Amino acid sequence: MKNGGYIVEKKKKIIVIGGGVSGMSVGIYAQMNGFESQIIEKHSIAGGICTAWHRKGYRFDYSIQWLVGTREGAFHDTMCETNILNDQVQVINAEIHNRNIAKDGTNLVIYTDLERWKKHLLSISPIDGKAINKLARDIRRASHLHPFDIAPALRTPFQYFKAFFRCFPSLYIAIRHRGKDFTQYIKSLNIKSDILKEKLLNIYGEGDYACYAFLLIMGWYFRKNAGYPIGGSLAVAERMKSKYESLGGEFLFKKEVEEIIVENGSARGVRLTDGSVLEADYVVSAADGYTTLYKLLKGKFRSPMIDRVYANWKLFTSIVQVSFGINQELKTDYNIQVVQACGDKIGSTELKHNYRILNYNFDPTMAPEGKSCIIIRYDSPYSIWEKMSKEEYGEEKKKIEEDAIKILEKHYPGSSQHIEACDVATPLTTIRYTGAWKGSYEGFIPTSKNVIQQLDQKIPNLDHFYLAGQWLFPGGGIPPSVHSGKWALQLICRDEKKKFVSKPV
Ligand SMILES: Cc1cc2nc3c(=O)[nH]c(=O)nc-3n(C[C@H](O)[C@H](O)[C@H](O)COP(=O)(O)OP(=O)(O)OC[C@H]3O[C@@H](n4cnc5c(N)ncnc54)[C@H](O)[C@@H]3O)c2cc1C
Repeated sequence: MKNGGYIVEKKKKIIVIGGGVSGMSVGIYAQMNGFESQIIEKHSIAGGICTAWHRKGYRFDYSIQWLVGTREGAFHDTMCETNILNDQVQVINAEIHNRNIAKDGTNLVIYTDLERWKKHLLSISPIDGKAINKLARDIRRASHLHPFDIAPALRTPFQYFKAFFRCFPSLYIAIRHRGKDFTQYIKSLNIKSDILKEKLLNIYGEGDYACYAFLLIMGWYFRKNAGYPIGGSLAVAERMKSKYESLGGEFLFKKEVEEIIVENGSARGVRLTDGSVLEADYVVSAADGYTTLYKLLKGKFRSPMIDRVYANWKLFTSIVQVSFGINQELKTDYNIQVVQACGDKIGSTELKHNYRILNYNFDPTMAPEGKSCIIIRYDSPYSIWEKMSKEEYGEEKKKIEEDAIKILEKHYPGSSQHIEACDVATPLTTIRYTGAWKGSYEGFIPTSKNVIQQLDQKIPNLDHFYLAGQWLFPGGGIPPSVHSGKWALQLICRDEKKKFVSKPV
């Protein structure tokens, strides 16, 4: 292209499907690396699942309780580059992760300081010093996992070699406990006290949840590398959006992609539900994985691995969130309480394990001064919701509100008299606003079988197209999702024979 006598190279264009945290990360790195980009988002705001909504002066947060990498490491760098973290963001590290209340009313507190947690476990069972020490040692070792900065396809054998030594203690734990789920792991500790064993087993309940994932989470807490950014999820999304726009990126809101246009084995653009076509040199989908692969690409570009994963890997069960704005200051030492309630009913959901009750008094942005924001969450399988009629849905939401108020009263007696705002968000709400497959808010569960696996960002036989986002990694979460956006740009820069940069050029 000629401009005033100068040859100006036309920028290549990247279309990003989905304006959640991973899509915004793709957009930010696209702009940094000299591409033109557009993010197409079907909702009216940025953030996807990383969001919050406002009711009568209260902010009801839907996502972040902790972010891996608030202190150090490759996730930390990515979160600084994408403006999730900056010098103005206050990060807090809670001393207590949660209190787990058993059906008999007794507690297991999860302290984020390992020595304090050990003392607490010993106070429950003084005879189990050996098992408790082993658990603490495994957590310490697991905490030595350092994520790669570079996309898997671009790593050299030497980088793997270096990482092997750096991460050795954590890899040792991953290999030693390979194939073990959380329940099997706790049983393998040979805990003598049935009371302590039961309390620990309550942390995840039955089901295949990888023990390595649990050890990693505890390890990150213990290293003070999994804090909470004041302002929560919506503030994170807004900071990323402002970074993207300040770099010249463009958001198209309330626009939904219906099809990814493919010509001669290359992605050429997208068709929107309003019929318009947007052309591009590259397409990156950061929308939910099932929608991308089986709807937008019509199931034409699959691999045996993709089909196996989508047929067999278990999803996080969808959730109901009941949020209360209360005109009263409700104090607590336990911001997150996990209450064992197997067999109890909330609305028409019979609880399999527990419900969670969160008190956001640690974040002043969630409620006006002197008031409180309390959230109750519980698993509610999508099968309960998928065929509900409009009338049944309305009735169900009313019943849930009534049942949740009873729970609120149990934990904060008298508070129900001061409710100013109440909101019930269901799996259908999650699907309506984010498209998450079956309402699964974090994609695939990390199980004993898949915990160290991930899906390829490149799909076989399709060029100029990459995947990003939480559906690539069991466990989902904001840091890996955002990281995958950076990786997508590293891959595109490789294709374009450009040096990847993580600062504006
Ligand atoms: C209750 C809860 C607690 C959580 N706690 C934590 C936590 O403590 N720490 C943590 O790290 N993570 C947590 N998470 C998970 C985290 O929020 C997600 O992993 C992350 O936000 C996923 O981001 P994403 O961009 O990959 O996907 P999404 O947020 O799902 O973004 C996809 C976007 O694509 C858009 N889209 C879909 N289809 C189309 C289409 N056809 N056309 C246009 N746009 C489309 C959607 O509207 C959406 O905005 C939690 C989530 C929940 C719900």
